[in-house]
Amino acid sequence: MQYITLNDGTRIPQLGYGVWQVSDAQAFDVVTTALEVGYRHVDTAAAYENEGGVGRAIRDSGIPREEVFLTTKLWNGDHGYDATLRAFDKSLERLGTDYVDLYLIHWPVPEQNLYVESWRAMEKINSDGRARAIGVSNFTAGALERLVKESQKIPAINQIELHPYFSQPAMRQLNEKLGITTEDWSPLGQGGDLLKESVLTRIGDAKGKTAAQVVLRWHLQLGNVVIPKSVTASRIVENFEVFDFELTPAEMDDITELRRDDGRIGPDPAHFNYVG
Ligand code: NAD
Repeated sequence: MQYITLNDGTRIPQLGYGVWQVSDAQAFDVVTTALEVGYRHVDTAAAYENEGGVGRAIRDSGIPREEVFLTTKLWNGDHGYDATLRAFDKSLERLGTDYVDLYLIHWPVPEQNLYVESWRAMEKINSDGRARAIGVSNFTAGALERLVKESQKIPAINQIELHPYFSQPAMRQLNEKLGITTEDWSPLGQGGDLLKESVLTRIGDAKGKTAAQVVLRWHLQLGNVVIPKSVTASRIVENFEVFDFELTPAEMDDITELRRDDGRIGPDPAHFNYVG
């Protein structure tokens, strides 16, 4: 496993395991599998409604808690100072742990305009040692610059949609300028057409790797944290076997050239104001 040191000194495994759209019961099984395979980093969220299963899998694994990097996220309907503190307590309760490694604001929710207040609460949670690192997700340039200007602590991470069809060069550059690590969600493009791209299969065939492994390697070589999801045991293994080969600079460029103007899959955070 490779690690990245965040701006607060916390070390994060560069490859993690994401559990969006996994039921609570299934989360127990798939996180158990992922931990057996060797993953030591799990990405969940209050909104995924599977913190219970994730926490139980970590506890029952027998792996010391401090060896597993656990991320969860504050949901949009829980923004504001007090509401954030309450939501965090509930997440810890469901996870069955007394700290998380990373707590993220899931979306900025610009219309609600409470993310700075939520961040104050996150700073307190961090100072109290209940989240080893704090960060944001889906923050646009405007939201991020405002947060940095109005706050004490700079987010350690900005977790954003990022894959070869939507590689966000400007956002990556801004994160880097501010000392914020970029973490890539939907890194495989949610398993759609991306993995059929001939450039990926050509590169993979030459190295004895699959298109998914080539894409994950591209994320790692960009220097980002990456959190692919799969509920299929063989793919959970496949997605972990990405540390024994390298892409050349030309191959990296070929993959980056897959970028599309309409490459975004998820909501545009500048206009995503859902709090349900
Ligand atoms: P992903 O890009 O990881 O794709 C997952 C899908 O790709 C799987 O369901 C499967 O269909 C396919 N797949 C996985 N491994 C494969 C393989 N080896 N070969 C072929 N197909 C494969 O998509 P995702 O789940 O949207 O994103 C990953 C994680 O990112 C989530 O689970 C979640 O933790 C996080 N996430 C965060 C946000 C956010 O707003 N912060 C939003 C979406 C996702």
